[in-house]
Amino acid sequence: MNSFLAVGECMVELAQMQGNLYRRGFAGDTFNTAWYARRLLPADWQVSYASCIGNDAASDEMARFIAAQGIDTAALRRVPDRTVGLYMISLDEGERSFSYWRGQSAARLLAEDGDWLARVLAGHAVIYLSAITLAILPPDGRTRLCDAMRVARTQGALVAFDTNLRPSLWESGAAMRAGLMRAAEVADLVLPSFDEEAALFEDATPGQTVARYRAAGARSVIVKNRGRPITGFAPDCGDFSFAPVPVARVVDSTAAGDSFAAALLAGLATGKDMLRSVRAAAELAAKVIGAPGALVRSSVPGAAEGR
Ligand code: ADP
Repeated sequence: MNSFLAVGECMVELAQMQGNLYRRGFAGDTFNTAWYARRLLPADWQVSYASCIGNDAASDEMARFIAAQGIDTAALRRVPDRTVGLYMISLDEGERSFSYWRGQSAARLLAEDGDWLARVLAGHAVIYLSAITLAILPPDGRTRLCDAMRVARTQGALVAFDTNLRPSLWESGAAMRAGLMRAAEVADLVLPSFDEEAALFEDATPGQTVARYRAAGARSVIVKNRGRPITGFAPDCGDFSFAPVPVARVVDSTAAGDSFAAALLAGLATGKDMLRSVRAAAELAAKVIGAPGALVRSSVPGAAEGR
């Protein structure tokens, strides 16, 4: 049962290096969290990634990359005639812009097979997914995934939901709001970011965000707010506010929330209380935003070198 599962979509990343030269990598919010969790959790923990990929060379390379990071790939389902999604990071005088090709990615079929989903979600101590995981699914897939989360929670898993908002992936603002609240109903822990919540739900304060997700059914809610205090509630400590370590120079904020979630969950999974886990999460996120890229090996030294 020492098992951590992240569920979502990993994509091919093409990052512009110089002129027409691009470097190929692999990334995606929930995958990034699995990557950090693998480095933070003790060796007797299994970290797995659940998604769908194709049968082509790009999918094979992605599966090999994931396995090479020490992440179990048994929950990667192959879907013939589909492939993995792709995004490209273009640079214009240091400003990054993103283009996506993910409309037909295999991961969109993640919740197509309810029996497979139930099998994959069974037997983990921690299950992590995000609103991107939900957004890429058709409406019936979202329902199946939320149902499977509910079952996993009743079987003893800590189900964590990060409300990563990508409005362009949802049919409408109303669908996005409904999807978030539905997932919060079946999650133990909800991880929102205040600026996004304020824009979508008109929350006036982080405390209102906490209250709204708790009323929906979440047991614990941790509201991130960039460099501002983290506001939350958890049964073991009640309401709290925690000021993160100040970061003198933010180099690249990619994966701030993804790494935060990994350290928070690794802390909780290994028996730390909520406040110590939040502190560890803020410390890791601070290191990650102080360096370029999503997967910052130097932020988790030692463990990273061993894998
Ligand atoms: P997300 O990436 O999920 O939108 P945030 O941008 O709020 O979430 O960042 C997640 C966490 O990263 C914050 O709670 C904080 O711990 C850390 N963080 C982000 N930006 C800063 C910053 N400017 N200074 C210090 N810590 C930061």
